[in-house]
Amino acid sequence: MEGDGNYPPTGYTPQSRMSDGWFHERWDGYGIGLEKEAILEQETTTYQDLLVFKSKSFGNVLVLDGVIQCTERDEFTYQEMITHLPLNSHPNPKKVLVIGGGDGGVVREVLKYPSVDQVVLCEIDERVVEVCKQHLPSMASCLSDPRVLLHIGDGIKYLQQHKGEFDVIITDAPDPIGPAEGLYQKEYYENLKKSLKPNGIISCQGETLWFDLPLIKQMISYCRNVFPTVAYASGNTPTYPGGHMGFLLCSTNPSLDFKQPQSNFSPAQLDSMGLKYYSPEIHRAAFALPRHARKALTEVLDT
Ligand code: SAM
Repeated sequence: MEGDGNYPPTGYTPQSRMSDGWFHERWDGYGIGLEKEAILEQETTTYQDLLVFKSKSFGNVLVLDGVIQCTERDEFTYQEMITHLPLNSHPNPKKVLVIGGGDGGVVREVLKYPSVDQVVLCEIDERVVEVCKQHLPSMASCLSDPRVLLHIGDGIKYLQQHKGEFDVIITDAPDPIGPAEGLYQKEYYENLKKSLKPNGIISCQGETLWFDLPLIKQMISYCRNVFPTVAYASGNTPTYPGGHMGFLLCSTNPSLDFKQPQSNFSPAQLDSMGLKYYSPEIHRAAFALPRHARKALTEVLDT
């Protein structure tokens, strides 16, 4: 569907806009721009403003509530890290839950583990799944895999109905806006823990060290009151603010060391898994934080 190009829709906060042939994501005086070739989808769903456009240099782009969620060119950086950091920290992941993640990218990465016999995707907005199947097939096409169970609903409610079921739970959330606000509250982390099997692991989108340190500190301090093992890692995604994205990792296993990956995949294994960002070296390095961040998080993070 060719949009009318009149983005943002009326009543939208003035942070992001489509103007002079570019999509501009704007954050308090800082911006990310992608030149637009064509608008492919543009609507307000039950939950959020949804935009998909073809960009000149980053492929098709999914935007929700004015914030870039993923682009065909650099999505692999984020999807690989939020998935392989936890899954390659668990000795034998069998059942995985992904909350959010309607673009399918995280599910695609989870399916690379032969030990996984089921991955549940709990996405609140069915329109996200539908438009990603059409315009971002390199991610969403995996949703037809027989091991995938798609549940359209609120992840907050889903956790309350599924206790003790999962080895790994990945929260691939947008920023804490609209339906995602509840995915950053203390109660949410308490419910994540209750939905894990023994020695389970959670991995959450951990915002960016350049703009979100107070929020990151709050998320980590919530988790420290819930999990015995808490860690924070980061990676690079050009189209996220600061070109950076963090990952909050927790486990009920008190002796788990996230910095030591379970499998030391060889280059040949990494190639066969189609990995373009993640490796055991990147895994270990991801937990080393720049000094400004380490200082800001000292109170809540172990040395
Ligand atoms: N990788 C992106 C990031 O880091 O910002 C997130 C991508 S994914 C598209 C985010 C998804 O979370 C959206 O499709 C949104 O509809 C979904 N979502 C938001 N709140 C949710 C909730 N409470 N339960 C389930 N899904 C939710």
